[in-house]
Amino acid sequence: MKITIIGAGPGGYEAAIMAAKLGAEVTVVEKKRVGGTCLNVGCIPTKALLASADVLTTSLEAEKFGVFNEHTYADLKQIVERKDKLVSGLVKGIEFLFESNGVTLVRGTGRLIDAHTVSVELNDGGLETLVSDKILLATGSVPICPELFQYDGVRVITSTEALSLQQPPKSMIIVGGGVIGCELGQFFSRMGTQITIVEMAPQLLPSEDEDVAKQVMRQFKREKIKVITANSVTAVAVSDTEVVVTLADGKTLTAEMMLLAIGRASFASGLNLEALGIAVDSRGHIEVNDRLETSVAGIYAVGDLINSPYLAHVASKEGIIAAENMLGHNKSGAHKAIPRCVYTDPQVASVGLTEKEAQIKGIKYKTGSFDFRSLGKAQIIGKIQGQVKIIVNQEDVIIGASIIGPEATDLLAELTMAVHLGLTAEALGEVIHPHPTLSEAIMEALHDVHGKSINK
Ligand code: FAD
Repeated sequence: MKITIIGAGPGGYEAAIMAAKLGAEVTVVEKKRVGGTCLNVGCIPTKALLASADVLTTSLEAEKFGVFNEHTYADLKQIVERKDKLVSGLVKGIEFLFESNGVTLVRGTGRLIDAHTVSVELNDGGLETLVSDKILLATGSVPICPELFQYDGVRVITSTEALSLQQPPKSMIIVGGGVIGCELGQFFSRMGTQITIVEMAPQLLPSEDEDVAKQVMRQFKREKIKVITANSVTAVAVSDTEVVVTLADGKTLTAEMMLLAIGRASFASGLNLEALGIAVDSRGHIEVNDRLETSVAGIYAVGDLINSPYLAHVASKEGIIAAENMLGHNKSGAHKAIPRCVYTDPQVASVGLTEKEAQIKGIKYKTGSFDFRSLGKAQIIGKIQGQVKIIVNQEDVIIGASIIGPEATDLLAELTMAVHLGLTAEALGEVIHPHPTLSEAIMEALHDVHGKSINK
């Protein structure tokens, strides 16, 4: 079986390796670097920058631990160099995995000719035609930049440019208080930039629990990050030195730079979908069935290109499922539990329903919660802010959970498994959790569902 994959982000590259492991002859077409948005300008570089900001914050607080460190300062140029080195190493890692699994990488831009043929405009010049039994589309997404905002990549930037700034600007307006806006907002604030975030919804992180968003707001306030919610940008004026933004309420904001973080859009441009009759929804997502196959038999699509959450772990999982289905399996692309993570400090992580969503669905639910403040491990590491909240239905089945606090994104795995497997709070609460660890907060919150938390 021959398979051609267009796009080597998490969706495409994981599909390639899985298909090769299952015995297919796989060719991947990638116009930039393997690893896609996630590795080159997304998940990994943002978290690498945030790791440096964490070290800075910890060093600045070292005295609380009896450690003295006189000359703590951050050098953004070197932070970005570290990030670039780390990303390049991981890019090489994927190229090595391609080689060791016999996956052929063709560097160029792919275009569908028919259900079995992809034409590639090679980066080094010339054309190559690839003929295969099945094709996977995994071309991802690009930042949304409406004309109003006058994106120029210099004064008005997206996350892509933000990740490579060599000096922190004095001030920055961030349009959009979702995950990317909050993560980069806090990072640049810690680098010394005066940040103002403008969010259209009534809260930051609009898809998260209200309580959680409030706690992030409070932390941002402590760090002097200005947050304007329930407001939007109506006009933008860009000059050589500044950006002036007018808001819906008539107020104006001025800053050295503006970062657009208002979301991303599927990127299918140039794939020639219309000619093949591949169905696309009103928002530009390629339509797929439960097996992740498009309206044209033998052509599959995954990741940011289809209508599922724009997350790397979703793209990877879909890539693996599509690979298996292309090779004759019959796996469902429907996801039972998708973890959502925000790598601010404190971190935010959630899965399943929020309380508000449970209310809208008319589900009768109970909650249990536990504050990190009451936990030995949180006191030891000096990170006492935040809590775990568990939501269960009338049958005690865990239908949602949120964590705000230290290592929330790693801690969430246990609760994601619980939602995926339909575990009850009682069953999961019976599991012995090691002491002293942050995971005890989950155990206590599970016990609290039944009013039995020992340390609350
Ligand atoms: P992509 O990763 O976008 O890869 C698509 C690839 O296709 C690209 O390499 C592109 O060059 C290539 N391509 C496009 N068209 C063609 C063509 N015609 N021919 C050849 N190649 C082509 N998600 C998380 O889960 N966790 C995070 O912490 C996180 N942080 C993020 C931070 C930022 C700043 C951003 C922007 C995104 C973040 N994401 C995060 C989202 C995550 O990066 C995406 O959901 C994920 O990369 C989608 O994977 P994909 O394989 O669908 O597409």
